[in-house]
Formats: sequence, C-alpha cells, structure tokens
Amino acid sequence: MQIINPATEEVIQEIAEDSPEAILKKFQLVKDGQPVWAAVPLAERIACIEKFYAFLDENKDELAETLTMEVGKPLQQSYNELNGARKRLEYFIKNSARWLAEEWITEEDATREKIVYEPLGVIANISAWNYPYLVGVNVFVPALIGGNGVLYKPSEYATLTGLHIQRLLYRAGIPENVFQVIIGKGTAGQALLELPLHGYFFTGSYRTGRYIAEHTASKLVPVQLELGGKDPLYVMDDVEDVDSVAAAALDGAVYNNGQSCCAVERIYVHEKIYDKFIAAFVAKAKKLVIGDPLDKATEIGPLSRKEQIGFLTQQVADAEENGGKLLLGGGALQQQGYFFQPTVVVNANHKMKLMTEESFGPVIGIQKVKDDTEAVELMKDTPYGLTAAVYSKNFDRAEAVMKQMDTGTVYWNCCDRVSAGLPWSGRKSSGLGATLSYQGIRAFVQPKAYHLRG
Ligand code: NDP
Repeated sequence: MQIINPATEEVIQEIAEDSPEAILKKFQLVKDGQPVWAAVPLAERIACIEKFYAFLDENKDELAETLTMEVGKPLQQSYNELNGARKRLEYFIKNSARWLAEEWITEEDATREKIVYEPLGVIANISAWNYPYLVGVNVFVPALIGGNGVLYKPSEYATLTGLHIQRLLYRAGIPENVFQVIIGKGTAGQALLELPLHGYFFTGSYRTGRYIAEHTASKLVPVQLELGGKDPLYVMDDVEDVDSVAAAALDGAVYNNGQSCCAVERIYVHEKIYDKFIAAFVAKAKKLVIGDPLDKATEIGPLSRKEQIGFLTQQVADAEENGGKLLLGGGALQQQGYFFQPTVVVNANHKMKLMTEESFGPVIGIQKVKDDTEAVELMKDTPYGLTAAVYSKNFDRAEAVMKQMDTGTVYWNCCDRVSAGLPWSGRKSSGLGATLSYQGIRAFVQPKAYHLRG
C-alpha cells in the first residue's frame, strides 16, 4: 500500500497490508489478552492512558508533521488536533472511574441489588482519516479503560498516524495483546466484519456505515456509527456583528479544508442582512492562505483524496446549472497536489447537490431566507442529523429553531465544535449511538445486574 502526500503527490512510504490470515492472528492474540487486561485494576488501566496523554505532547512535533504529510491538514491544525485529543483524554482520565464503578441500587433490603459494568470483549474501531486522533481517541481510549481489547483499523489515508498511536500506546504500557492496528484498505475493514467481535465502532461515510450495520446485524452486538452530515447554519437578521458571524461561519466551513463531519455545509441568511453577510464572507474567504500545509501560516491545504476534486467540481457545476452564482473559486488549483480553491456559491437553493449532498471540501452554498419558518424548513430538509447552528442576539428565538432540529447537536452563536463532556451523536443518516461524555464511557461496557440474598 502506498502512502501518498496529497500536497506533493509523492509516495511517502510503502507498507504491506495485513492479509486476512494476519488479521485473524491479531484477533486471536487480542482475544487471549483481553480477559487478562480486564482483570488489571481500573486505576492501572487509567494510568497507562495518562502516560499516553503525556507522550502525545512530548512527541507532538513528529506526530503533527506525519499527520500533515499524510492527510494534508495545515500544520497548525494538526497541532490543534493533538491538543484537542489530549483534552478528551483528560475527560476520560478524570471521569471514567465514576461511570465504571459498581452501583448499589438497594444495600439494605433482604435482596440487595447492584449493577456492575463489564467490558464488551474485543471490539473493532474502524476509523476515518479526517481527524484520526480525535475520532480514534473517542473509541479506543474509553474501550481500553473499560477493559476491552481493540482491533484498530485506521483509514488507509491515516495509516502512519495509526502506527504512531500504536507505538505510543505500547510505550504507555498497553500490552500488545490488547491493542492491534489493522493495516489496509476497505478490504481489511471488511475482514473485521467476518470475525466474531463483541462490538463495532465505526467513523466514516453513511454508505460504509450502513453496510457495516447490515453485515454485522446478525451478530447481535453493539454497533455504533458516527457518519457524515450536511450541517446547516442560519444567520438571523438581529445579529449585531455581521462581520464576526461571517468569520465564524467561514471558519466552520473551511477548517480542515472543509473535511470535518460537523463542518458548516450550507448557510441560510435572513434577507435583511443577506447582502451584508455575503460581502463580509467573500472578503474573508479571499484572504485565506492556500499552500504548503507544512507552513504554519497556511489555512487551506490540499484535499486528502484526489477523487474529491472531481466530486466537488461536479457539485459546483450542478449548482451553477441550477441558478447558483459563483463568487469565488470553483475548481482545483493548477499545480501539483490535490488543492481545491475556497469556493462560494450564492443564490443557492435545494435543487442543488451542493445544498443536499455532503461536500467535504472548502465549498459552501449560501441561500437567502425570508423568515425563521422558511429557515427551519430548509435546515430540516436533509437525510442527515449531525449538527445545526443558529446565530442570533435573541436566545428565545434561537432556541425555538434549535428545538425543531432533528440533530444530535445544536449550537447557538457557535458552530463546528465538539466537547468531551457532551455526547457526540448523529441522528438519521448521521449515525447511531454516542461517543464522549459519560455515555461514551458506558458505551464500551455492559451492565450485569446482581440480585443478592444472604
Ligand atoms: P469511509 O466510509 O470511506 O471509510 C471509513 C473507514 O471504513 C475506513 O477505515 C475505511 O477503510 C473503512 N472501510 C471501507 N470499506 C469498508 C468495509 N466494506 N468494511 C469495513 N470497513 C470499511 O469514510 P472516510 O474515511 O472517507 O471518512 C469520511 C466520512 O466520515 C465523512 O462522511 C465524514 O462526515 C465522516 N465522519 C464522521 C464523523 C462523526 O463524528 N460523525 C467524524 C469524522 C468523519 P479505507 O479508508 O482504508 O478504505
């Protein structure tokens, strides 16, 4: 398997993919190691994660550089991702003991009752490339703390990062027979579906997620899916500082080259401030620094996958055919690497794929609305349900919109953010189950009810 730098199109490294036999061997190794790991006291398991936390910081320069070279993420954003991952680790380190402790329901009665939380067993963590640290730690960290064995399949586009993670976890004391990286493409992920695992935790596209759910259904084990989105942002007419709202919306749309699950993917603006908002938005988008992602000043790097250039080009063409007006960008940069220009289409409408299909790139459609009712109708017109954002001075008015969203997350005067203390979940085609928060700790254990007499 070739690891290609999307900024230069050069091969960084060639790596052998795991064969189905090798994957089976890794499974057997972890299957034997997991019960031993589950018997290790919780405090010791957490202590390993504390060391991993420290190593992420100690090795941040090397880790950030690898991430940037492998997925094209601007270097500063690679550092930000590592910091974000450490914040999530802090949450798990601080809170896991509380949520995994046995719970007495009745201690005094003739029949005493308690709940004990036991690990699921050996789980698959099939992961995406866009935030390999963030979406990885959401799963393998609480899974390991909970006493599970983990077969971690990074995306083929984030393989080197997956191997760094493995190396640092081993150094932190996680045994080799508890955590194994599975190297390969979709076929390696497919091989995991054939194994008798005790849970499947997937981050990626709706299409693959649905396939995994269908192919593991008969196992009757937990399946969690963190999938894509088409997240709307609505700017009401009462916002005081249109300029800063435009800056926030732009950042939400293009951060990580627009390749975030909760990126702002479509914008609705009240007609009273539409022109002002667009002027501010485009002025800021024009100033974005595109270029070498290893340069710390760069804000827009290359897309991670070459195919995405054709996909985005078609979305823009379709938008123009359906009445959209292109104010900025519209295509790939004519140079080495998978660079796509920041692209702004106004006069957007829902006939356009740009407003209905996940774009996953630095491309945004902006549509004018006459009131909150029309905005809500359009925001809800999607099969996805990950996040939705509202900008307004008036909380009551914003809350009335947020309550109507069928999404796992809603934002008031912010967007494109995830907090370790809150459940991260998608509804409808955006997923199933939750990671992070106490729910993301409990997701990796199963309750056992004790009825005790005597
Ligand atoms: P994919 O669905 O293409 O891939 C996700 C993972 O599944 C990869 O490791 C992939 O391997 C693997 N895979 C592919 N085919 C199979 C199969 N048949 N069986 C088992 N595993 C398989 O998604 P992307 O990696 O392209 O990620 C982008 C998507 O992820 C976007 O839609 C984004 O919105 C979503 N996402 C959602 C998040 C959330 O929290 N809701 C967070 C981050 C991303 P390989 O890549 O090697 O082919």
